[in-house]
Amino acid sequence: MSQNRLSIQYAFRLQILKLKIFLRFFIDDKLSAPLTLTSSNLMRIDSHVHIDTYDVDIKDVLNEIEQHKIFTIAVAMDPESYVKSKEIAEHCHYVLPTFGIHPWQAHKFNERLSEFDHFIDESPMIGEIGLDFHWIEDESLYPAQLQVFEYFLQKAQQQDKVVNIHTKGAELKVIELLEQYQVTAIVHWYSGPIELIQRYLDAGAFFTISVELMFSDHIKEIAKTVQLNRILTETDNPGGYSWLTNKVGMPSVLNLVIDELAKQKQVTVDSLIEQIEVNMRGLVANRDDVLSLMDRLNKY
Ligand SMILES: [Zn+2]
Repeated sequence: MSQNRLSIQYAFRLQILKLKIFLRFFIDDKLSAPLTLTSSNLMRIDSHVHIDTYDVDIKDVLNEIEQHKIFTIAVAMDPESYVKSKEIAEHCHYVLPTFGIHPWQAHKFNERLSEFDHFIDESPMIGEIGLDFHWIEDESLYPAQLQVFEYFLQKAQQQDKVVNIHTKGAELKVIELLEQYQVTAIVHWYSGPIELIQRYLDAGAFFTISVELMFSDHIKEIAKTVQLNRILTETDNPGGYSWLTNKVGMPSVLNLVIDELAKQKQVTVDSLIEQIEVNMRGLVANRDDVLSLMDRLNKY
């Protein structure tokens, strides 16, 4: 083979290699494209937001929700917080208020739970409820947490409603109770043992992936473990993002979660957004009110 022929072959191989590298960059780039650059106008879902706790102008928050088309499940800490969320929701179709009593507030309400039955009855989902044996170190408060959580689980079972739950440091007890009451859960910002995930999945639970995905290998591992058809996205705004970054979690922070999760799961941003909507629709399949709200929002 002549020297000339060899160099042509070499040049040809080099071109192929360059093409492969170019294609890989192109594909990778598409996978990690920031949401703002996608042409789609798909509805995103934020499965866990404390809309009533913003201390910035709520108009700015609602504008951003509408601009980014974010169906926002507004969980409550207690009755007062639920009433405030309902008022906010009157100004924005994208906000769906749900009633619950957070484990941090349980001891204030455990003796008068039936007073709030009308809130439970009207709420399309239940939340935020759950247990916290990590941030709450005072064990004398645990019986009230359990009493409130079980009260809501019993109601959720009777009314066939999905619950939006907090599990911090109490992951084993929470799954035991979900199994006992046979209630379907949105497991919010799970950060517990990987070994328990399958047990939650067997109980029909869906896991939200939160803003911590960008900061924690453990959360990345959880995102990897849970299959796409059981995943939802959330921010826990406004507190979740500010806990991590000292910046107020505005609604569009959700886009950071979606972008990163799409990268982790190696799917396009659009297909992830669509899958999350499918997942949410499956969860609320028995709720015509929520489904028709989602249909309406999709048309905006
Ligand atoms: Zn929360």
